Amino acid sequence: MEIDHLIPEALGGLTEETNLWLACSLCNNHKGDRIVGLDPLSGEVVRLFNPRHQSWCDHFRWTESGDRIVGISPTGRASVVALNLNRPSLVHARRLWVAVGWHPPDD
Ligand SMILES: [Zn+2]
Repeated sequence: MEIDHLIPEALGGLTEETNLWLACSLCNNHKGDRIVGLDPLSGEVVRLFNPRHQSWCDHFRWTESGDRIVGISPTGRASVVALNLNRPSLVHARRLWVAVGWHPPDD
């Protein structure tokens, strides 16, 4: 895991707890210095999910099989695309976690 600046330093984000979050290196690399992404449904540019200020359940849900994340809001959809949250390696890992009862989380 890496420490991600939710608002990147390049955009004036501070290195303080309220602006920091743990992310795996792949997600962090996909996010890069972005705070916005394209909602694939509307084509609009929207803010990416901010786990410090937004609730996961308001923006995402798991598929029935538990192996994919579905964006249920403009922010959720844009974040799934921007961070490539359903890349094959993650889907494969989630399938293994589902098989042993570790996933998806209860809430
Ligand atoms: Zn990740």
